[in-house]
Amino acid sequence: MLKNRFLFLITILCLGIFQGSLFFAEEISSDAAERFGKEVRKHWSTEIPLDESAMKQTGIRRLESKHLILYTDLAASKQVDELPKLFDQLIPLLCNYFELNPQNYETFKVEGFLINDFEKFKSGGAVRQVPNLRNGYALRCRIWVRNQDSEYYRRHLLLHEGVHAFMGYAFGFWGPPWYREGIAELLGTHRLENENLTHGYFPKSRNELSGWGRIDLVRDDFMKHHDKTINDVFELESEDYNENTAYGWSWAFAVFCENHPRYKAAFRQTAWKLNGTPADIAKRFLELLIEKIRSEQPEWNEQEIIEHLNNDWTDFITNLDYDYDFERTRIDYKPNTQPLLTSETQFQIQADKGWQHSGVRLERGKTYCFTASGRFQLAEKPKIWYSEPNGITLRYYRGIPIGTLLATLIPDREERFSAKEGTLGIGFSAPQKIGLGKVLTAEVSGELFFRINDFPAELSDNTGNITVKITAP
Ligand SMILES: [Zn+2]
Repeated sequence: MLKNRFLFLITILCLGIFQGSLFFAEEISSDAAERFGKEVRKHWSTEIPLDESAMKQTGIRRLESKHLILYTDLAASKQVDELPKLFDQLIPLLCNYFELNPQNYETFKVEGFLINDFEKFKSGGAVRQVPNLRNGYALRCRIWVRNQDSEYYRRHLLLHEGVHAFMGYAFGFWGPPWYREGIAELLGTHRLENENLTHGYFPKSRNELSGWGRIDLVRDDFMKHHDKTINDVFELESEDYNENTAYGWSWAFAVFCENHPRYKAAFRQTAWKLNGTPADIAKRFLELLIEKIRSEQPEWNEQEIIEHLNNDWTDFITNLDYDYDFERTRIDYKPNTQPLLTSETQFQIQADKGWQHSGVRLERGKTYCFTASGRFQLAEKPKIWYSEPNGITLRYYRGIPIGTLLATLIPDREERFSAKEGTLGIGFSAPQKIGLGKVLTAEVSGELFFRINDFPAELSDNTGNITVKITAP
């Protein structure tokens, strides 16, 4: 699945450039997005009227807050009856996220249906628009949600559909499946503490968000070698979302962008212009991303930016886990990587970081001698654990003792299509064990990266360094 990932994204991009500078000339701003949304709303059809008394007769209750009228056949309870108030908290958070003036959304109101017994809702005309409701659905300012056993997941679906309704109202469009579901999942994944809503929440453990399971879905797919490239995510179709796995991948891409300073703004700003074909939106996202990165790092060309994006994504999905440490796993790429020419070169590898760019290239067919030394801290509790570069066999991560020094090569562009992704020592998903030392012949020419093997949620309690010496031929 990782094969040709680079080619796809570059093709998307070249098509965009080929079509001229239209996209850059277009105004992409929250103001323009709102103006567009207003125009679209003018052409909305009138909603099918509801027969409230018929619904009442079948035992459907009506709960109302500032931004939501919720019809439900669920019995009165604190968890259910407070949902409209929770929904009210979502709207200002969304205004803030999309950089919109909340005053423009004072009167935004959604009619929601939280359904336990679907049959009951037929009498009042409430489900005429959704005869095949699976879990949730949104249409203009109406949302439908099937009741869930898990309180968390019931709220999650309500907020997820609420994001759709809000975006449809504000911008007129939701965008292609990867974007509309990714952003609804991102902003619907939440935490409730003392009745205060935090959205865009990243769970710390499996038990925290009951019924959600997005991380497990992506990890299971990855373990079955069904991992998705960014282009695969872009190409997800509406039918793919009959399975929750597609929601998992869309969430993963959204949360990956949201937590990376190079990609965050482009992901958010894509919401400001969602009209066009799915390919248009993917192209626009990449153009926004390149524009932003080049304004900060003009030494990077477009191909390098796309390569880094792909490599960062591979690293992320390889190691995705609860409480993932986005900051410490972020890869800093050094500019102007040079071949390793001197007879002996030395590097310092930090124990509390993910992949670290050495800034040198190795050359295909040449043999290199690695030696590593140093003692570093790997854990603080229940007691301090020290390790050396050959790791500690008491605990394993991805089948390798934690603390083991790892290396990998990211193949040069011209080698990319001949290099087998996933071959040991090539790419972030297939690192090579170095330990205290090793003699290796480079299978491809490429840039050299190091890291210490550890769980992605457990880097913060590491301290210290490893010194690696490489003797070149
Ligand atoms: Zn959705």
